This record gives sequence, C-alpha cells and structure tokens, in this order.
Amino acid sequence: MSDSLSSSAALSASSDNPLLKPWTTPFETPPFAEIQPEHFLPAFEQAFADHTAEIAAIVGNPAAPDFDNTVTALERAGKLLDRVAAVFYDLVSAHSNPAILEIDKEVSLRMAQHWNPISMNAVLFGRIKALYDKRAGLGLTSEQMRLLERKYTRFHRSGAGLDEAAKARMAEINERLAFLGTSFSHHLLGDEQDWFMEIGEDDTDGLPESFVAAAKAAAEERGLAGKAIITTSRSSVEPFLKSSTRRDLREKAYKAFTSRGDKGNANDNNATIVEILKLREETAKLLGFPTFAAYRLEDSMAKTPEAVRGLLERVWKPARARALADRDALQALIAEEGGNFKLEAWDWRFYAEKLRQRRANFDDAAIKPYLSLDNMIAASFDTATKLFGVTFAERKDVPVWHPDVRVWEVKDANGQHKALFYGDYFARPSKRSGAWMTSLRDQQKLDGAVAPVILNICNFAKGTDGQPSLLSPDDARTLFHEFGHGLHGMMSNVTYPSLSGTSVFTDFVELPSQLYEHWQEQPQVLRQFATHYQTGEPLPDELLKRFIAARKFGQSFATVEFVSSALIDLEFHTQPASASADVAAFEKKELEKIGMPAEISLRHRPTQFGHIFSGDHYASGYYSYMWSEVMDADAFGAFEEAGNIFDPVVSKRLLDDIYSSGGSVDPEQAYIAFRGRPPAPDALLRRRGLLEEPEAA
Ligand SMILES: [Zn+2]
Repeated sequence: MSDSLSSSAALSASSDNPLLKPWTTPFETPPFAEIQPEHFLPAFEQAFADHTAEIAAIVGNPAAPDFDNTVTALERAGKLLDRVAAVFYDLVSAHSNPAILEIDKEVSLRMAQHWNPISMNAVLFGRIKALYDKRAGLGLTSEQMRLLERKYTRFHRSGAGLDEAAKARMAEINERLAFLGTSFSHHLLGDEQDWFMEIGEDDTDGLPESFVAAAKAAAEERGLAGKAIITTSRSSVEPFLKSSTRRDLREKAYKAFTSRGDKGNANDNNATIVEILKLREETAKLLGFPTFAAYRLEDSMAKTPEAVRGLLERVWKPARARALADRDALQALIAEEGGNFKLEAWDWRFYAEKLRQRRANFDDAAIKPYLSLDNMIAASFDTATKLFGVTFAERKDVPVWHPDVRVWEVKDANGQHKALFYGDYFARPSKRSGAWMTSLRDQQKLDGAVAPVILNICNFAKGTDGQPSLLSPDDARTLFHEFGHGLHGMMSNVTYPSLSGTSVFTDFVELPSQLYEHWQEQPQVLRQFATHYQTGEPLPDELLKRFIAARKFGQSFATVEFVSSALIDLEFHTQPASASADVAAFEKKELEKIGMPAEISLRHRPTQFGHIFSGDHYASGYYSYMWSEVMDADAFGAFEEAGNIFDPVVSKRLLDDIYSSGGSVDPEQAYIAFRGRPPAPDALLRRRGLLEEPEAA
C-alpha cells in the first residue's frame, strides 16, 4: 500500500474532520460511518487551497521547465482534492440525501471556479509547451512521452495558448453554447410535454396489460385520471408501435414522435441548431482546425473524420442491404395476412415483432431463474481468474456507505494484493438510475505502488420473500459490462495517475467493458454458472440456443437507424456551417445520398438529437458506441480464432496491451499490439447477424 496520501501536508492526526485525517481502516479506505455531510465543504476548501498552492509553486518556479518540475509536479498535485472528491461523488450518485445534494450545487460551482484559472493559465501552458516543442530530445520513456502529449493537448484544446482577445471570444462562445444547449433541451421537453394521444377502450387492441397500466399512470400525471394516454417519450412510443394493431394510431404516434422540435412553434429547434453549428465552427477555427469534427476527433482514437466515415460506411452497406431484405420479408408478412398496403415507417416495429415471435420463440422470463445475482457475480469473477489469474475473497471488515454494499479483496496470480472491489448492486431511492463503474482510488506508482479501489454500482431489483435477486439477460450483461470497466481499473499498471485505468478516449473506453460482455453469453460460461436457483439444475441446452439466437433479431433495423444518425452527426460537423442553414433540407439531402430506406427513420432526427445539440460531449462523437463495438467484436475474435475463450497467450496480450495499459499508450497502437492489426468490422457484422443470408419469412 502507498504512504503517498498520508504524506499530504493537509492530513493531520489532530483534525476532527475524517476527510482530513489519515485513514486507519483496512487498506486505508474511507471510514464511511464517520463521514458526515458537514465535513465536505471544509475538506473541499482545504483541498482547493492545497492544490492552488501546488500549482502556484509550479508556475512560480524560477528554474527552467523540465519534465520533473512541471509535468511530474502536476501529476503529484491535487491528491487531497482527488481523495475528497472520490468519496463525495460516490455518495452523490450512489447514496445521496438532501444535505449532500445541496452541497453538490455549491461544490460544482466551486469546482468550476477552481479549475478555470488552471486550465487557461498561460504561464503553466508556456512551461508545458516549451517541453512539448523539444520532446524528442528529452530522453523520455514512452509513458512519459504520452503523458506530456496528453497534457499539452488538453491545455491547448481548452484555449490556454490563445491571445487575450481570442480567449475572451472563446469564453463568450462557450457561454452562448451553454445557453443554446440548454434551450435545445427545453424546447424538446416543451414539445414532449405538449403532445399526448388519448387511447380509449376500443384502441387498446394488442397492447400488453403492463403498457395500458403505464398509459393510465401517464394520464394521471397530467391530471387526466381515469384515462390512458400515449406520450412522445421513447418508452411510450416504441412499445406502442411494436404492439398496437391500430395502424391509424401508430401513424399518429409516429408522426408526433419524429416531428418533436420541428413543428414551427415556439419550441422549434431549427434556428438553435443553425447557431450552434456556426459557433462550433468558429471555435474550431480559433483553435486552428478546419472543421469542428477535425477539432473534436483529434482527441479521440479515430483521430479524423475520414476514419469515422470509413467505419460507418463499411457497416452501413451490409446493414442497409439486410434491412432492405427484412423490409421485403415484412411486406410479405403483410400480404400473407391479407393486408393490401405498403409497409410504412410506423408499421416496421409491429411486423418485426410478429416475425421475431415466429422465428426466435424466446421469452426473457424463462431464463431469469437461471441468472441469480450471486451466480452471475461468481461467473464474472471466474472469467477474470481464468483470463488474468486474479482471485477474489470477500472482506467483511471494510467500511461501506450502505449495508448492501459488498467488498472483495483482489489478489494477483502470486497471491499479492492487487485491488479492492466494491459491489453495490441493488436499486434504492438514494441511488441515481443506471449502472456505472468508478473508483475511490486509482492505481499509480509514481511514489511507490498505490493499489486501486474500484466500485461497480448497479440498480438490480432485490430478491423478495427469501428469493435471491434474479437478473434479466440485460441485467446479467450489464453486470459483466460494468465489471469489465472495473477490471480496466483494477488491472491498471501505469506510473502516472492521470493515465490510470479508464483514463482513455471516449471511443476506446467501452472496449474493455463491451468485450467482457462476450463471456457472459458463452455456452461454456452459462452451462457452468447459469443454474436454477431452486433446483440447481443447469440451463437446458434448448433454452440456451434460443437465448443466443434471439439476440441477433432486429439488428438490421437497429444498425440502420444508428449508423444513419451517426453519419448525419458527422456531416453536420464536417461540412461548412452554411451548408446546413436549412436543417430539414440538409437532412433530406444527406439521407438521399446514403440511400436511407424510406421505411426506417433516423434514431434521432436533428431537431431531437440531444446527444449532439444539448451539449457537445457527443457532437461528432455519436459514432463512438459503434467504434468500440467494432473493437470488442473483433477482439473477442482473437479468442475464437485460438479455439479457446480463455486462451492463455491471447489473455496475456489482452492484459498487457488493453486492460493494464490505461491511457499510457496510443489506443490504436495498443489495439494493434493486441490483435496484430487494426480492428476490422467483420466480427461486428457477424455478431449483429448482418453477414448471413436473410431468412425467408
Ligand atoms: Zn460502459
């Protein structure tokens, strides 16, 4: 274990604040029972002050910049802030209360006030740039070189290198973009709140009981107690389109859903989009990039818009071909039923569901008794043992933030302490929705080895009446997904903290997690671990086969609606902003260009595309999901080719090149080191069933 935390100047044995005292718990973990909400603000203030003083010392250092007095010094700075923030954000998301949420408002403001002057600091950037400009002659290790490049890129991209006038303009643009992003979301919400469709007693044909109940609850929420309504939320419209036999109502719901933000009313998003795209283009140009996509993608694994387009087009062609064949199968089904009409976009989900039931004959409920939470945890651990040699032993002596949280000590193949792993699996009101991985401490070895403390937080339903928690296939996949992220943190083996574990690009970070999902659906793993919670009997082979087959169904539709959206996102941000002055005309022209099937619409039409217009995190980055999926499918192919899903040679490369290298290596080089070549999309196409001959209806 490290002594680096206890060496921080602010930690004092005499302090009353547990966040500012050395931790004497097992593995120096946070003493959750002692930490109260009122401890956070004073601890943050101390941490900000410490960090500001550390930065001032680097900036004011009279010595010429060198790697140690600038880059390494930055890596050493802010330890107390990391420590306090890790505990705070764990509680904010996994176990909050009104006091914590109130403090969160204050903390986010103080965080921005603390970080802005650091990331725009011209003197600090000057020291980094001086080193960056002569980096080839500094005799750096490859990890140090990567670290210097990352630091330079981050400061440069935040505008630290601009002159004062340009900095002022950047600040102005950022403020306006923040405003426009918020109004985009508010417009969308406004249109969603304005529209609903009442479904009467005669309109419910085909709808599951659970759906009708939800439609009644939605009506009650809007003051229409006793009625039932469809709203334009995805969770209302999609199941309605899938199951309602009323073609006229499907058409109405579909049209309302796809016209959100595009109705020419006060909530219309077209003008907002035009202004956002103009300002993004200006930002890119201020920073020296030809387009916003070039700016955004420089800091990604894909690196260029051309690389993104290349991937999307390779997936697009077979997905489109398959979708056209599926369309014909659906049209044939309509004819078979005596329908005398052409398949429209509002018919697709309805007939696809009929076809799915006919072909796959699979119901999630049948498999749940075989997927108990404990069995799936055991399966995820066993997979890690077989791949990486790590073992897991539960510890009852480590403090936790809620009694349901479980902790395991992870040891490496030599029996040495490797990490701590906390699993917080059950939904409760104090937890936000979703599932995620985070850390209380990241691996590093800058000043002695620091072992990581990694968390998985999920929202599974707790078992009732003495029954264990039983997972759906999606839940089981989520468990493996988050554990894959967890292993990325636990197996990390880098020197510098800012390169640790999951500190990688957005289009790379889902590789270790999505890859890990593959083991969950392997017959070998399911046969061993998916045993019936009452009888202990293993999953019947016939059910296993239907389970695996059902996963491929409907992939052409999902791929087409996703890839077309990703392509539109890319075009918005590579063509000059003036090209999309008429957003609807732009959309139409681009869809014609790629031959979009008329019976499928974009997953997100522009005026509803919150991923790319509510903020800029996914702007020209919507492709990221598929980029990672190409890699995970292709990476698992290495095991399939070896004929052993736990092949020791492939596992060792996977550990060395992917799971342990964090952000210390360029991701493309890391991938090529693992696979011997760049990722190829064939495995993804096969997994999505897009390379097979279409079946007849
Ligand atoms: Zn993930």
